[in-house]
Amino acid sequence: MKTLKTEIQTIQESFKKALESVYSLDELESIRVTYLGRKGTIANLMPHLAQLSLEDKRELGPLINELKMVTEKLFNEKKEDLFDKSLEEQEASFKDFDVTAYKPNQPEGSLHLYTQATQDIISIFSSMGYSVEDGPEVETEFYNFEALNIPGDHPARDMQDTFWTTLPNTLLRTHTSPVQIRTMQQQTPPLKVIVPGRVYRHEATDASHDFQFHQFEGMVIDKDISLSHMIATMKHFLETFFKKELKVRARPGYFPFVEPGIEIDMSCPFCKDGCSTCKKTKWIEMVGAGLIHPHVLTSGGIDTKIYTGFAFGFGLTRLIMIKYGISDIRLLHTAHVEFLKQF
Ligand SMILES: [Zn+2]
Repeated sequence: MKTLKTEIQTIQESFKKALESVYSLDELESIRVTYLGRKGTIANLMPHLAQLSLEDKRELGPLINELKMVTEKLFNEKKEDLFDKSLEEQEASFKDFDVTAYKPNQPEGSLHLYTQATQDIISIFSSMGYSVEDGPEVETEFYNFEALNIPGDHPARDMQDTFWTTLPNTLLRTHTSPVQIRTMQQQTPPLKVIVPGRVYRHEATDASHDFQFHQFEGMVIDKDISLSHMIATMKHFLETFFKKELKVRARPGYFPFVEPGIEIDMSCPFCKDGCSTCKKTKWIEMVGAGLIHPHVLTSGGIDTKIYTGFAFGFGLTRLIMIKYGISDIRLLHTAHVEFLKQF
């Protein structure tokens, strides 16, 4: 009997000691199995108890029960303690977790060349006091042709192959010039506007032609406006856009909506002695322009006795192709990622 009593004490002490050196829930579990398991140290005391006298059983039975209760209590306390500690550790490790540190390899997009060039152009002309105007892409025959001094029998209509819609006198605009008339009708001079936009021509596509392309056009209406104002404006724009000092020259040109009409060339920004961009000529044709035809001013409700104006039109697509050395216009209108990624 004495041996069993000593045994009970020994178990309790060794259990306490074992708990002291436990640092994880796994270790704790293995101690639980050793002491409190169905075949554990405490359960193993029972057969010994059975062999004792009734009197001894009465004394030792409660002692074994107490041992069981005390060990279970100690076990549960330790378990709670370890659980709290592991939570604290987890929290501490998350405290330094930087959610922005993980960056999946995601390709970055960029603005399309049309958008980049349009933004450049708007900023250059804004610095000269121009505002930006917009107009419909589906236009009437009046705004696209008649108001611009191109009546029905005018040969200039053949210069621009037109997409007609199924509605009478309605078409996809062949140039941005209709916006000139709309602006004159809605605003009063002095006017300084640019009009960037998409236009359509019924043409077969190849490396230098597409059925849709972008133009931007500008118009100034004020008192005493002359061609020299326009040439100076074009020179300033081209030099700023190409970031280079350039020469410009004017040649006579024909456009029905201007009189006189001129074409402006710029000196090649890429060479001194001729290259493939300027086709060995050292000059590049850039812009069609002129003083606004009195018929056009009248269509827009402008008093031609008081006001004159100049207008100019660039092929935005062409401007981009020259600046970035793009040889095929169709690349600008396709989702060719490898191509677009370069800009
Ligand atoms: Zn050149």
